[in-house]
Amino acid sequence: MPAVVVGPGVASGASPVVSVRQVGFGYDGRPVLKRVSFDVGAGDFVGVVGPNGSGKSTLIDLIDGILQPQQGEVLIAGRATREYRRRDLAREVALVPQSFALDFDLSVREVVEMGAYCRARSGEVRGDAEWTLARLGIAELIERRFTELSGGERQLVVLAQALMQRAGLLLLDEPASALDVSHQLRLFDLLRDLNADGLTVICILHDLNLALHYFSKLLVLSDGELAAFGPPEEVLTPETVEAVYGVRAYMHRHAGRTYLTYSPRLRGERKGRIHVVCGGGTGAGLMRELVDAGWEVSAGVLNALDTDEEAGRELGLRMVVEAPFSPVGDETHTENVALMRTADLVILTDVPVSLGNARNVEAVCTAAREGVRVWAAEGVLAADLAGATGALVESGVELHADTAAMLAALTARDGSQRPA
Ligand code: ADP
Repeated sequence: MPAVVVGPGVASGASPVVSVRQVGFGYDGRPVLKRVSFDVGAGDFVGVVGPNGSGKSTLIDLIDGILQPQQGEVLIAGRATREYRRRDLAREVALVPQSFALDFDLSVREVVEMGAYCRARSGEVRGDAEWTLARLGIAELIERRFTELSGGERQLVVLAQALMQRAGLLLLDEPASALDVSHQLRLFDLLRDLNADGLTVICILHDLNLALHYFSKLLVLSDGELAAFGPPEEVLTPETVEAVYGVRAYMHRHAGRTYLTYSPRLRGERKGRIHVVCGGGTGAGLMRELVDAGWEVSAGVLNALDTDEEAGRELGLRMVVEAPFSPVGDETHTENVALMRTADLVILTDVPVSLGNARNVEAVCTAAREGVRVWAAEGVLAADLAGATGALVESGVELHADTAAMLAALTARDGSQRPA
């Protein structure tokens, strides 16, 4: 049985496994990669992300020596790829390509054994194919016809073929794009296990949440340039995602993990500011919709750790926040009224009103009396246990059926700077 998956080039010396130095490359004179530099060390587990056409596949082909840089150089184990004979480079670097087409009707065993082409022929190869398939949990496929396999099975067989090179560096070009979610997770779990065995992995993928959860480093390409390279959570910040992909991104923490969600980027200029008075989750969806629609949004007074306060934090909103489970105090009340005075619109959701937050309704009435436009969801009247909402209408607050109706009213007025 082969001892490890790691090839001979990795363990020796202190050179990085891959060193990409000031690499430039273009097709037909059109630049695709520009001055890209980074190192990948032995045992690194690197995800490569970036929009379509940003140069990810080209970069992988340069590392595999299929392409040669037009500027700079790519070193594998300290030696430029152009100095390797193809067969020698294949002992250092293996590639799982984006698609693998087969013109002949071969068995899985034959497909996998083809991967050993770069190694000295010996009786060992047969045993290796069995061992490698078993390592990937698909030993039972060995006598099947490759063309009869499912997409998920084929992908694992192609991975087994690449592993047969016994190279220390494995490159994968979007191996998960055609797989369902369960096969995706199985594949990335396997890659993580192989990496734990000592294999250095560089893998292109599109799913940023999988990238965040699996890889130890992420490399972000944007328009042929290296936009970021480092630990996933430092690299995939909402700012970077917005700059690179042109979408708004939000970070959420759930059960100890970080997740990204997205919405389309703002169109046109920023509109005015809407101050939302909410709580208990009555404002989270509204605030996000308003942000997506291009409004600046503030909120308050909210208790720390309230659902709406957490949503506001993820959205990066300016908020007036009171201590958890504490009634609105003088300081936060004053600050809240000040934020309302300078808002273009104040929205009161159908938040349950109790003694703890009755001052928010008082603040809304004050703002309305001073001439600020205030909309309230009708449901707040029924959810009032403190008798605070009686003054809303007489203060000049406009009642709307619910927050969906308010959003519809705002959309109908879209294009104007003010909701008047
Ligand atoms: P990604 O993998 O990030 O989608 P690619 O490296 O495949 O990006 O492509 C980068 C750019 O180079 C794209 O504009 C693509 O159309 C172009 N390109 C890729 N391969 C070729 C090729 N063989 N000939 C000409 N242009 C190419």
